[in-house]
Amino acid sequence: VNLQKYFPVNQNNPFAPKQYVHAVEDATLALYPGHATALVGESGSGKTTIARMLARIYDPTGGTMRFQNEDLKLSRSSSSLRSYRRHVQMVFQDPFGSLNPVHNIRYHLSRPLRIFGHARSRKEVDEQVLALLNRVSLTPAEQFIEKFPHQLSGGQRQRVAIARALVAQPEVLLADEPVSMLDVSIRLDILNLLLRLKDEEHIALLFITHDIASARYFAEDTLVMYAGQVVEGGPSDEIIQTPKHPYTQLLLSAAPDPQSVREKGKNKLPARGEIPSLIKPPSGCRFHPRCPHAMPICKERVPGRTDLGNGHWTNCFLYGEGVAENGSSVITTV
Ligand code: SF4
Repeated sequence: VNLQKYFPVNQNNPFAPKQYVHAVEDATLALYPGHATALVGESGSGKTTIARMLARIYDPTGGTMRFQNEDLKLSRSSSSLRSYRRHVQMVFQDPFGSLNPVHNIRYHLSRPLRIFGHARSRKEVDEQVLALLNRVSLTPAEQFIEKFPHQLSGGQRQRVAIARALVAQPEVLLADEPVSMLDVSIRLDILNLLLRLKDEEHIALLFITHDIASARYFAEDTLVMYAGQVVEGGPSDEIIQTPKHPYTQLLLSAAPDPQSVREKGKNKLPARGEIPSLIKPPSGCRFHPRCPHAMPICKERVPGRTDLGNGHWTNCFLYGEGVAENGSSVITTV
């Protein structure tokens, strides 16, 4: 709750003024078992920073987090981090960099199995490694267990990375652009695998993507991020069919989904400008330099959250002044 993440810049230069990248501010989200939530936005919008805070890779600058109805102590004691990471695992964007090229697949999966105490003898380890490979549809598993990463395709490596995340039997899976570096032809297979695991294992899934069209296909709920802030959220169908925030409308007008382009074409917004510098973010609504509907108030005040009904909400003065959230909030509830 009230989480923020600021990164210092020019840390090594004692003469430089103290400055910070305001990477995440005013972000609220909840994850639920067996439920997929998409976090959508352009590069640099803060999506990965949120995931890394949820995975406890980054310490938040401020705020608190809740997990299974308990406040998490944001200390970095190794025992508390280890126990938390059993529950919350991350799948990274780059399946090529996430596996060590000098070790085979047995090694990549047996090591966490031993660390988490799920298997001890060689026989037990091999049985579980084979079971994991079957769960991610790398079959026949006996053929994959001895292979090295360079002998696998990008999609197969991402399946190994997912299998490795499953070793911990996580309740939460944070998938950071899991298909963006893969061939288009195999993206759907990996997305379907994640969906199947979410349903079968009742995993809470955070799916990070810059592609709002795939969010619609993949997630029950969608959150839209712009310049470090979550600006709109709600059921994915509703966000796609009736986007309210001008930035969501802009994202949809640029989406490769032909139907959404057709539907939103009339209201197509010009993609003016880029995400602003987060060292000195724009005052008021951070989207105002790009927004075709900007009003004087937008430069002066930060819009609060306006509830639009049916779980749909947005932070935009076009729909009212909203309710201030008293800072940034990231809530993980499982
Ligand atoms: Fe545009 Fe103002 Fe809404 Fe921001 S608050 S999106 S500038 S209309």
